[in-house]
Amino acid sequence: MENQNAESVWAQIHGRLQKILADDVQTRWISVIKPLNINDGKLQLGVPNDFYLLWLNENYLPLMQRVAAETLAQPIAIEFLVSSTAALPQETASPEPAPAEPPKKRSAPRPVPALNADFTFENFVVGPSNSLAHAACAAVAQRPAHAYNPLLIYGGSGLGKTHLMQAIGHQVFDSSKTARICYLSAEAFLNEYIESLKNNCPTDFRRRYRSIDVLLLDDVHFLAGKPGIQEEFFHTFNALFDSRKQIVLTCDRPVAEVQGLEPRLVSRFAWGLGVEILPPDLETRIAILRKKAAHHNLQLPQDVVLFIAEKIRTDMRKIEGALTRIALYISLSQQRITVPTVENLLRDTFEKVVPKPSIETIQRTVAETFDLRPADMTSKRRPQSVALPRQVAMYLCRSLTDHSLSAIGDAFGRNHATVIHACRLVEERLQRDPGFRETVESIRSRFST
Ligand code: ADP
Ligand code: MG
Repeated sequence: MENQNAESVWAQIHGRLQKILADDVQTRWISVIKPLNINDGKLQLGVPNDFYLLWLNENYLPLMQRVAAETLAQPIAIEFLVSSTAALPQETASPEPAPAEPPKKRSAPRPVPALNADFTFENFVVGPSNSLAHAACAAVAQRPAHAYNPLLIYGGSGLGKTHLMQAIGHQVFDSSKTARICYLSAEAFLNEYIESLKNNCPTDFRRRYRSIDVLLLDDVHFLAGKPGIQEEFFHTFNALFDSRKQIVLTCDRPVAEVQGLEPRLVSRFAWGLGVEILPPDLETRIAILRKKAAHHNLQLPQDVVLFIAEKIRTDMRKIEGALTRIALYISLSQQRITVPTVENLLRDTFEKVVPKPSIETIQRTVAETFDLRPADMTSKRRPQSVALPRQVAMYLCRSLTDHSLSAIGDAFGRNHATVIHACRLVEERLQRDPGFRETVESIRSRFST
């Protein structure tokens, strides 16, 4: 048996179990199991979370050992372990765990199945870029609806918003098994709402979402430009807020900057606390990388860790992908991992370091965009039609190049104070004028390709 791998042993046992167990038990409890290892007469099986672990140990372990012994014609020990490779079934995704006791006690503790088991506070690395968001989430998790309500976490992709939001869900569940916690993306919220309209049961939908203790709604920017669902969410929000239930939201930018979001929603979102997560610094990235590597049982040399942390700077989601590839490489090649190998292996994962544009290129591009002559960038003319583009160009030079204020000033025939003033004006306008922001961002994006 030792020369069979865990997969094939499990496949045999699984085949047998399928004949014995009812279909729903099969889908709910057995199909999520992933074979991990076989060693010394012990088969290790991965399950998605602690709840499955407990439930399977208590209800199905003896049966499975028996079936295994019969199938393999020799006794074998089975051990369940929580493993991130064991995913919850899709869609019906969240198998409502069956009541843990006879039906009369139906309100048995229920985990929050939509939560990723790895997204806990314990697994989150705190650094200067996210410490505020982390502290706010910890406070909310400790006393839902008392600390900050709503709590809004915002920032770019892959910075840990969903992780922190789900950590709240885990902790609330750990401290109160009866709390009704609901995690879903704004997109799923919309889809469920549409479904409920199709099936003529929007009342059920409303009842469901208004009877929650903690609502974790991810990626609210998705609601932008969709007035119907915003209206619905507005009422959900009010109902929950009025009955002192906790609402946690995430967004990919400050909500005031999301175009197409109703002002009344924006103003409600601002009732509580908004915290930003910024891209992590090098130390934090190294710590995240170490933590994830340990989680994957991967030991990486220090220079490899540093190399990856230098290359993956913003989207921490890429770290997971990188580690999976490295793990695969190691298991297939049985070789030590080195910097050149990693460089090869992860070439397309690494964030491209874009060469910085020159001041002249920025001046030329801005002039083109605003239909001016390049000479207008340096001329003494002051009409607004020229002054504003010139200020934009100075602002872009400041944010896209490493030149000093006086070098930028010189290039525009001005002094450094004028550059500071220009940057301030542009930043102010970016805050309040979405059309202007779009123009500036579109110019900026031309330098990133
Ligand atoms: P977002 O929702 O902001 O796009 P996620 O929360 O999905 O990002 O995070 C992306 C990945 O990066 C996840 O695997 C998450 O665990 C990881 N991650 C991001 N920040 C941290 C952190 N500070 N500590 C540990 N893991 C992190
Ligand atoms: Mg997210």
